[in-house]
Amino acid sequence: MSTQTSEQALIEGVNKRLFIGGEWRDAKEGGTLSVEDPATGESLCEVADGQPEDALAALEAADKAQADWARTAPRQRGEILRSAFEMITERIDDLALLMTLEMGKPVADSKAEITYASEFFRWYSEQAVRIGGTYSISPDGNQRIMTMKQPVGPCLMITPWNFPMAMGTRKIGPAIAAGCTMVMKPAKATPLSMLALAEILEEAGLPPGVLNVVTAASSSDIVSPIISDSRLRKLTFTGSTPIGRRLMEQASENLLRVSMELGGNAPFLVFEDADVDDAVAGAMVAKMRNIGEACTAANRFHVADSVADEFAEKLAERMSQMKVARGTEEGAEVGPLIDEDQLGKVEELVNDALDKGAKALVGAQKLDGQGYFYEPTVLDDVPKEADLRYEEIFGPVAPVFSFDSEEEAVAAANDTEYGLVAYVYTSNFNRAVRVIEGLQTGMVGLNQGMVSNAAAPFGGIKQSGFGREGGYEGLEEYLETKYVAVNLPAEVPF
Ligand code: NAP
Repeated sequence: MSTQTSEQALIEGVNKRLFIGGEWRDAKEGGTLSVEDPATGESLCEVADGQPEDALAALEAADKAQADWARTAPRQRGEILRSAFEMITERIDDLALLMTLEMGKPVADSKAEITYASEFFRWYSEQAVRIGGTYSISPDGNQRIMTMKQPVGPCLMITPWNFPMAMGTRKIGPAIAAGCTMVMKPAKATPLSMLALAEILEEAGLPPGVLNVVTAASSSDIVSPIISDSRLRKLTFTGSTPIGRRLMEQASENLLRVSMELGGNAPFLVFEDADVDDAVAGAMVAKMRNIGEACTAANRFHVADSVADEFAEKLAERMSQMKVARGTEEGAEVGPLIDEDQLGKVEELVNDALDKGAKALVGAQKLDGQGYFYEPTVLDDVPKEADLRYEEIFGPVAPVFSFDSEEEAVAAANDTEYGLVAYVYTSNFNRAVRVIEGLQTGMVGLNQGMVSNAAAPFGGIKQSGFGREGGYEGLEEYLETKYVAVNLPAEVPF
């Protein structure tokens, strides 16, 4: 079979309808929306264009399934997750190709995402059976204080296009473990990975109605009616800060539990005592994973004066060697950006920095021809006024700024409305602790360029949102604490 045919066969094999109440069905009006290959700009296939009525049907199915699902034995919930983890692992090659076709990232990046995504199922399969409560004696000895954990109830999950599967499993894994039902709305640019995941969960034995997936051309049309429906109990959103803010406003009407994983503007600090080669290796991961289209992507490099030139030159050397190609091509390291708008935004930010005096060591232009490719870029001597210091770049562009003191480095790192993650390279332990304590972020990578780990609490502060995904904390987001006051006076007869 030629590559083209096998890609087509893979796409044809995905169920492209809505998944509601355990059934695959067409959208109300029978309409569809097109999914594009960002490497060519051409349509890959059509998926169902869900309507408000479909969204409400999905919520109804989730609500109907909630009580039984909450009563399902934790071991059974855990084993469904475990089976799904194993199926994802077995099918990683097909899933990775599918993800690359719709999202553009190189197949190696897609595999890394799928491994990361599946780890949430493994981790939460192990946590499902460890949901506990507490028991204590009131200070006056006259009561017993019991707490129990119960599922929050039906959740609405909204995910972005940049990690089409992991942003979903980070929510679905703990929700299944906790006993919550869900309506999932993936981004319209990348619905196929989520539809393939729904098929896996169905095959793994997830009961009808526990997970419902609605794809749609207009996200606001399908989200608004669910968000204001009293059957919904939680909204969990991953995406941009402006949309997160708008959704929070809507969720406040219904007093929903809310988790927000929003935008970032990660600083990457390199001190003069750091191993520069290690820092460059870490920078390549922090910047170039996912073509720079990650909320955790290093957005700006702040490097000590004495090593700034060495760091920038070595980084430029590594970046210049990267292979820019369609993600399906052998050895591809940098795929296309998601769409024309994103390409335009990256171009604009780089041109603004150059106009204000930055120097391009490598790259700084888009590729001619099909698709939305931008060259890996390193900018040196970037002035403070450049817009990309304050805005999320979401592309393969590394601006290097220099600093001359620890205080200046921390102040520069914190000079942003965002607070998701920061990276620190230093060999001095006391400095590491001092700097980390001063950073206004939810996460820090110390001498490493990646923080994502299913067993760790991922999340931000400031305009990067609130709530945590992964780790023990990620499960709490789907649990309510019920407190029981037990009347048991002190004078017991023994
Ligand atoms: P986005 O435009 O905010 O979209 C995110 C999701 O929200 C998509 O499913 C989108 O659907 C939906 N959406 C958009 N407008 C909506 C509306 N009015 N009502 C309801 N839903 C709506 O963000 P994006 O461009 O896809 O993703 C990139 C952003 O996500 C970046 O800022 C990145 O930093 C952030 N992100 C954060 C994390 C984290 O963990 N903190 C992780 C990954 C990404 P459609 O696309 O179908 O319209």
